[in-house]
Amino acid sequence: MILRDRPVQARFPHRGSKILLWPSAFTTVSARAERIVKYNPATLEPVGELDATSPDEIPRIIHKARAAQAGWAALPLEERREVLKRLQAHVAANIETISRTICEETGKPRMEAINADMMSALSATMYSVEKMPSLFRPRGTDFGKLSLMMRYLGRRSYIQPRPLGVIAIIAPWNYPFGIPFSQAVMAVAAGNAVVLKPSSETPFTGLELRKAFIAAGVPEDLVQVVIGSGSKVGNALASSNVDRVIFTGSTEVGRKIMAAAAQRLNPVTMELGGKDPMVVLADADLPRAAEAAAWGCYVNAGQTCVCIKRIYVHESVYQQFLDLFSEKASRIKLGYGWDDPEVGMGPLINASAVEDMEAQVARAIEQGGRVLFGGKRPNMKGHFFEPTAIVDAPQSSDIVQKETFGPIVAVLRFRTEEEAISMANDSSFALSGSVWTSDLGRGRAIAERMDGGTIHVNNVGYTFGLASTPWGGRKESGFGHTHGEEGFAELLEPHHVHVDKGRFARELWWHPYDQEGLELSRGLNDILFGGRYGRAAALLLRTRRRLKGR
Ligand code: NAD
Repeated sequence: MILRDRPVQARFPHRGSKILLWPSAFTTVSARAERIVKYNPATLEPVGELDATSPDEIPRIIHKARAAQAGWAALPLEERREVLKRLQAHVAANIETISRTICEETGKPRMEAINADMMSALSATMYSVEKMPSLFRPRGTDFGKLSLMMRYLGRRSYIQPRPLGVIAIIAPWNYPFGIPFSQAVMAVAAGNAVVLKPSSETPFTGLELRKAFIAAGVPEDLVQVVIGSGSKVGNALASSNVDRVIFTGSTEVGRKIMAAAAQRLNPVTMELGGKDPMVVLADADLPRAAEAAAWGCYVNAGQTCVCIKRIYVHESVYQQFLDLFSEKASRIKLGYGWDDPEVGMGPLINASAVEDMEAQVARAIEQGGRVLFGGKRPNMKGHFFEPTAIVDAPQSSDIVQKETFGPIVAVLRFRTEEEAISMANDSSFALSGSVWTSDLGRGRAIAERMDGGTIHVNNVGYTFGLASTPWGGRKESGFGHTHGEEGFAELLEPHHVHVDKGRFARELWWHPYDQEGLELSRGLNDILFGGRYGRAAALLLRTRRRLKGR
């Protein structure tokens, strides 16, 4: 059965309601479409279910997005800015509704939906509205030492930034609104259309995103959502006729997406996994560092790409730090935080994530580690796992080297600053990290030597919410940027226009090739690049004559 121009119903059984979804959100539902059934991982209650998009529909969805993009990019800039201002107002006015969907799908505390998802979405919208006037401004090229000559020849170059076209966003479930929304709003601000594939763990939050854009008044097909599994729908999207794929997710899937995108040479931005180090020097403000660690290790139940996963503490303050850290972590209340503002940590996303944590703890012990606290699932309904710290695990062990997407941190000690930097950099990941000291000069010097897209001095992992700062990783944490000017640069084509007033009849390098052309070419290279000015005047006169065609 093919449903074409009819809205599709998604059920929210526990609310006893149904919602209508726009046809172009996942336009066609075939008889064999995947069915996505979503449960709240904290309460295990159903959230809703819906049919997936058929991968066969993706070319048509992109075609429609492309048509909408042409219309959107042709609108006057101020009109587009007004739409994004309305978008900001709409999201701000609907924080509770959107947060509720986020919390139901992920089980995360309400504080985290508001502070991380909603704030980063709103900050990116505000930043985009502010930046839009400068995004499309043409900028002249500086020819450097050749400037005088280019002026004499009557030539100039400039860059006219243009939208890329259609941006595919393949998103994870951990910040199911904040991540794709901030990427989508910047893409749209840069004049592009967006086709988003949310994680199949968080499809309803993905649909909330589209709803916000539509409410703000973007053209119907400018921001579309396709629903389904990564292997089917995500793969079809990455290998489709889009102009960039922004992928946020695991390194393993990143590799698959690069391979799929390579089929069409689609450029990719890769925001991948992390294993962030925290370096605590002897002169650090230890209570603040311990407080930061208790948040930075366990925010979103440790399911944050920039969660602290390795803590390196100077040996002189190691025990003191462990005591403070254990005390702060022990105060974190587990549960479902929609109705309880004191809940500090929600569940993991599903049962297999909990099993993975158990396996990682067992492996850490096998390799010499010791559980300082936590290490098991509590006696609770839902996919919970206790905040966990492992000590004594060697630097080479899996718990220190492999990604742990859950509430487990390894704590190690160091003797010298050099040793701390080298241990922090001894990782295949390089997403973010932090150094803690009361000597800011020393902190900066260490931060500048640590690997990662962002290194904080005396803070941890919050700059995703500051949309004006670039976001991106190195090594197996990915490449490219979202957010900041660097992020906008990846959403625009630096269209180069070169204008020649046509003062001369020909170029030195045009046909016919002959002995004179060869001598002049050699001589010019000597003057321009070799700094040899002998016979320069005569050579330039002869060149001028030749260019004039005499
Ligand atoms: P994931 O890699 O399993 O999935 C991410 C997205 O890719 C989902 O939408 C999924 O459906 C899709 N996908 C899966 N297989 C695919 C395939 N073969 N082809 C196309 N698409 C496919 O990641 P996740 O479990 O949703 O999120 C957790 C991971 O994301 C962690 O590794 C975390 O570190 C990373 N992450 C990174 C950042 C960052 O900014 N660097 C931010 C958040 C999360």
